[in-house]
Amino acid sequence: MEKRVRTRIAPSPTGDPHVGTAYIALYNLAFAWKNGGDFILRVEDTDQNRYIEGSEKMIFDALKWLGLDYAEGPDVGGKFGPYRQSERFGIYGEYAKKLVELGGAYYCFCTPERLENLRERQKAMGKAPGYDGCCRSLTPEQVKAKIDAGEPYVIRLKMPYEGKTIINDRLRGEIIFENDKIDDQVLLKADGYPTYHLANVVDDHLMEITHVIRAEEWIASTPKHIQLYKAFDWDIPEFIHMPLLRNADKTKISKRKNPVSLVWYREQGYLKEGIVNFLGLMGYSFGENKEIFFLNEFEESFNIDNVSLGGPVFDLVKLGWVNNHHMRLKDLDELTKMTIPFFKELGFVGENVDQEEYKSLVKIVEILREGAQTLKELAKKSEMFFVDDIELQQVTEEMNSKERKSLEKLKASIYDPTAKEAISLFIEKLKKWNKDDFTIDEAKDLLHSTMEELGASPVKVFMPLRAVITGQSVGTDLYNMLYVIGKERTLKRIETMVKKYNIL
Ligand code: GLU
Repeated sequence: MEKRVRTRIAPSPTGDPHVGTAYIALYNLAFAWKNGGDFILRVEDTDQNRYIEGSEKMIFDALKWLGLDYAEGPDVGGKFGPYRQSERFGIYGEYAKKLVELGGAYYCFCTPERLENLRERQKAMGKAPGYDGCCRSLTPEQVKAKIDAGEPYVIRLKMPYEGKTIINDRLRGEIIFENDKIDDQVLLKADGYPTYHLANVVDDHLMEITHVIRAEEWIASTPKHIQLYKAFDWDIPEFIHMPLLRNADKTKISKRKNPVSLVWYREQGYLKEGIVNFLGLMGYSFGENKEIFFLNEFEESFNIDNVSLGGPVFDLVKLGWVNNHHMRLKDLDELTKMTIPFFKELGFVGENVDQEEYKSLVKIVEILREGAQTLKELAKKSEMFFVDDIELQQVTEEMNSKERKSLEKLKASIYDPTAKEAISLFIEKLKKWNKDDFTIDEAKDLLHSTMEELGASPVKVFMPLRAVITGQSVGTDLYNMLYVIGKERTLKRIETMVKKYNIL
């Protein structure tokens, strides 16, 4: 009978949840889903020096946020638990000793001083550092005597001195390692803690993982893992090493050059759909130039053999583009609710948003989502809708000459003779308007009829109106402004500006 496909991610809780974890999770999830199997989460927290309190919870939250649901894990349980390596310590010591009995590992009593000396000597001779196999030849009696005498020990992998270890990577084909180049890796440390290699292999075996899909940075570890499987006489899972995510300069993705924390992306207001879509594009191509998709489409189309190995660049411009598409595809009401925390953060709305306010937020989101890449950017662009006590925008240091020029034009426009007429007529029309709000078309009609009745050019009419309604030379179209703020607030703005600048 074919084994049920089981895949996993095995992050270490050593900091903020990493985009790389989500990327690998996505491919493991899609592969398991496609094959009717299970995708699970195991926490590899055996390295006490790198452990960071709270990191594990952030990983759970980030994966759940993205909808990368694992069927088993520390917080959801499952029949292969516990799923936290720190809760499985007893197991690793047992298996390390079993491996000694099977001849695949040995006790090593070398002191840290001896190992340090060895390293120094190797360095001086220009040799690669590595254990020299000193304790490999101890007899069982010698070992027993040392243990009985309470000598500290580690357990090391007994790498064959000859031959090759071959990884049959599904995407990369055969990757061949000369065994004599591979160190006798420590499996169990003197304090009884397992190393990554031992814990990882034992758990993948006990949790019945059939496919190990992980980043290419683990390739160097895989021959050691294969030797462990062989020594235990266990089935070797299929290995699939995914291309690493890269900075724009093609180096491995790093904090210094790219934000890597999923928390950061969430706080910036990237949508989960945008992140998942973008990560899906990193190693996979749908064909037919389809670049925008949802998780379920990705899962349905997924074929691991089509993963491409070119170093995918984690490009924020592309991510912004993808995210913008998902902002536009999102239900407007839902998107508005998601944007409210960002409006609050900027102080544009208070703690409680009433119905009237909410209605105008929906309109703001409707208008601005076209041109924003994140919810935060959308909120930032919305300032002109909130503050009614406006004034003419001032020239600032950062402005380029084009921006300065258009501001000067805006300023001058309010003193043009036509401006007075345009503003007066527009006030009149507004006062006659028999509702408080406008549809976008109604707002357009109102503005255009003002221009037509005056028989003046668009610039002569719309520029001063823009000045007295927004105070700014750039930004959203005037009709959008009317659509959002309605009749009373438009009138109030115009009246304030007329007074401030002695226009009429
Ligand atoms: N604990 C390793 C990590 O932090 C797991 C690597 C693997 O998937 O084997 O990514």
